[in-house]
Amino acid sequence: MNFSQLPLSKEMLTTLDSLGYKNATEIQSQTLPLILDGKDIIAEAKTGSGKTAAFGIGLLEKLDVKRFRVQTLVLCPTRELADQVAKELRRIARFKHNIKILMLTGGESFGKQLGSLSHQAHIIVGTPGRVLKHLNKESLNLENLNTLVLDEADRMLDMGFLEEVEAVMAFAPKERQTLLFSATYDDAVLSVSKRIQKDAVSVKTTAVEVANKIKEEFYATPNKLETLVKVFAHYKPQNAIVFTNTKVEAKELAENLVKAKVDALAIHGDLEQYERNDVLVQFANKSCPILVATDVAARGLDIKELSMVVNYDIPHGTETYTHRIGRTGRAGAEGIAITLYNSYESEKAEEYQNGAREFLEESRLPAVTNFNMKPQYVTLVIEGGKKDKLRAGDLLGALTGDAGLKGSSIGKIDIYDRQAYVAIERDFISNAEAQLKSGKIKGKKFSVWVL
Ligand code: ADP
Ligand code: MG
Repeated sequence: MNFSQLPLSKEMLTTLDSLGYKNATEIQSQTLPLILDGKDIIAEAKTGSGKTAAFGIGLLEKLDVKRFRVQTLVLCPTRELADQVAKELRRIARFKHNIKILMLTGGESFGKQLGSLSHQAHIIVGTPGRVLKHLNKESLNLENLNTLVLDEADRMLDMGFLEEVEAVMAFAPKERQTLLFSATYDDAVLSVSKRIQKDAVSVKTTAVEVANKIKEEFYATPNKLETLVKVFAHYKPQNAIVFTNTKVEAKELAENLVKAKVDALAIHGDLEQYERNDVLVQFANKSCPILVATDVAARGLDIKELSMVVNYDIPHGTETYTHRIGRTGRAGAEGIAITLYNSYESEKAEEYQNGAREFLEESRLPAVTNFNMKPQYVTLVIEGGKKDKLRAGDLLGALTGDAGLKGSSIGKIDIYDRQAYVAIERDFISNAEAQLKSGKIKGKKFSVWVL
């Protein structure tokens, strides 16, 4: 369906066009008419199907910009996800002026959020715990709320946010539209829906969507680490996420991979927020090819162009499996999903037998000699960011000017409030670091280090 077939404003259509969103995705064309019509919905569609824009377009079209009060609240399970949602909303809101979207998530200064809230906002995107804290302290009020969105509702429940979500609901007016989005849903989600929604219309697109092109292979092995390195050596993926079932394992596996000359970082629940961010930035900007993750830690990451997903352990349940491997093979490119299992797991592995999945002999993978996996880039951190009015252009300027690098040696640049990350080709990193350390950016000296 083309967006112009929907009752959307002209400015919205122009924006979508400028974003390169030509046709509505399946979930968008099925939910938008209902959302615009004020219905409560419970929508299920797989990861990457454009759920954010589905509710984002709807809520932005309904927003009364002149009424400078919180009209919409979007709850997300993690800070990264909230950040992605806020970014997508800002992109879609581009052509409507003066829409204020505020993020309220944990791991950030409460005081700063108090300051921002005192200046009001139209839309809040946040995590349940932090939003609730503001509601309890009366720094946030939802009197004017008319739309409430629960994004990744299933995950929110998995992570134990039910109580907090319900407590937040108690602050919202009864007359409101409640939208529930999820990659999967089960009885728990349905029961929450019953309690917080009115006559919710259920929309499910999982079945009609074209399946991702994913090659699924299973290997029985007594030595998973060795097999994993063979898999990497054989397929040479650009990047991969390796899932483990526990955070202890995630940590250990990343260390063991590094010992086996495969550059890897782990992301799990024990990391501080800044450490998480360091890891995610490095993976996304190609400074680390392998990310070892637990399901919780990886949830909601929108990492594009993932060549491979590995289940280092058989996941607990086929839904988790589907969710994990759905991260590869997006946008038409073929992805590879590898699952390793040992003799203790062979019974569980058998439950995964179907026509599409290949159960292969480990011995078909060639022995590994002299293999290593190194990233294309190395990340340089500059202790300065948006608050210091640093822009990507300033960093590019400093690096290509004084430091003498070619623009082509510089990869992704991420600028946060107080820090900036620049991906630089490995051969040029020491030169870049030395130059930035001795020189100035925008006339100012900043601390600089290599991650
Ligand atoms: P989900 O929440 O369903 O996992 P996202 O909302 O994160 O998916 O969207 C996945 C990607 O698809 C994003 O990069 C988004 O910008 C893009 N996208 C969303 N809607 C469209 C569209 N209609 N056409 C093209 N790309 C789109
Ligand atoms: Mg999403």
